[in-house]
Amino acid sequence: MTAHFTVLAKDSVSKARLGRLVTAHGAVETPCFMPVGTQGTVKAMLPRDLREIGCQILLGNTYHLYLRPGHELIRELGGLHRFMGWDGPILTDSGGYQVFSLGAMRKISEDGSCFQSHLDGSSHLLTPEKAVEIQEALGSDIAMVLDECIPHDATRDYVLSSTGRTIRWAERCLNARRKPDQLLFGIIQGGLFEDLRRWCAETMSSLPFEGFAVGGLGVGEGEARLHRIGAFTVDLLPQERPRYLMGVGRPQDIISAVRAGFDMFDCVIPTRNARNGTLFTWQGKVNIKRAEFAADPRPLDETCGCYCCRNFSRAYLRHLYVAGEILSSQLNSLHNLYFYHRLMDKCREAIRVGRSELWPQWNEPGTAT
Ligand SMILES: [Zn+2]
Repeated sequence: MTAHFTVLAKDSVSKARLGRLVTAHGAVETPCFMPVGTQGTVKAMLPRDLREIGCQILLGNTYHLYLRPGHELIRELGGLHRFMGWDGPILTDSGGYQVFSLGAMRKISEDGSCFQSHLDGSSHLLTPEKAVEIQEALGSDIAMVLDECIPHDATRDYVLSSTGRTIRWAERCLNARRKPDQLLFGIIQGGLFEDLRRWCAETMSSLPFEGFAVGGLGVGEGEARLHRIGAFTVDLLPQERPRYLMGVGRPQDIISAVRAGFDMFDCVIPTRNARNGTLFTWQGKVNIKRAEFAADPRPLDETCGCYCCRNFSRAYLRHLYVAGEILSSQLNSLHNLYFYHRLMDKCREAIRVGRSELWPQWNEPGTAT
């Protein structure tokens, strides 16, 4: 049952683990970061380049692919791997988070989540069974149960009833699954209430999921609560299954969560920031738009080995951004994803070697010159 995940080593000074997750499209070394491929593409990145920077696994968005081009079409064309030219592992979300972010355009009932398409206004009902059906049609290696991502300021009554429904939806997803080679992860909700997180984690852990995710964090609750609830919840999950912190986050959040015992991460920050000209370096964040870079011949990060830093100057990257060139998004995305993957390399190395001084350091306010 749990042979798909092996804990290879445990850190001596934190709760971090080094692991290996085996999927139908290959193995993933954890802790790992999953770039977000919203519409069957990680924006501005060729699959070939994702491979080259060491990307092991991608995240695909069920909501977007269901609405366009449609999961049946993708199934007919051989599944999402063939469709997008990526033969490595893919995790798909359930669509629940995108429906959550639509706010007023959706209505949740026991049956499922009724929402209007952001594309044409058409009405759709996303049930737990439908979420499983869509993800099976896409053919992802890891599917997620349908859940409700609860706003961080929700009342206790709301969190209680919503979390109960998320648990019932998770059981319906298990009953609906038809593909034994697709792993299915349960999602822990419970808002900012420790007793509700415990109830959800313990109930989900008693169900035959191949992994568990913690959702509903990184949605505006603030850094202190994110770290506190995240660390509290991950401690309640089985040691022998992978644990995924959904949608988080910044480099310092990931380092902290790895040390708390999380194994998997996804976030749009590296790619979205790249397209906005905000770049991660080991000296801090760099805003490439700034005039001070107009004639700067140095690479973005002199310690970075990515294609962007090996071949281009800050002056050129700033020029591409200011001129609105497509290559700006491509080079910036390549660099930021390279940075995130080296960040995960460093975390894995620190656990493997067991030396606390090897943990990567990152401070958000630090801004390089
Ligand atoms: Zn670079």
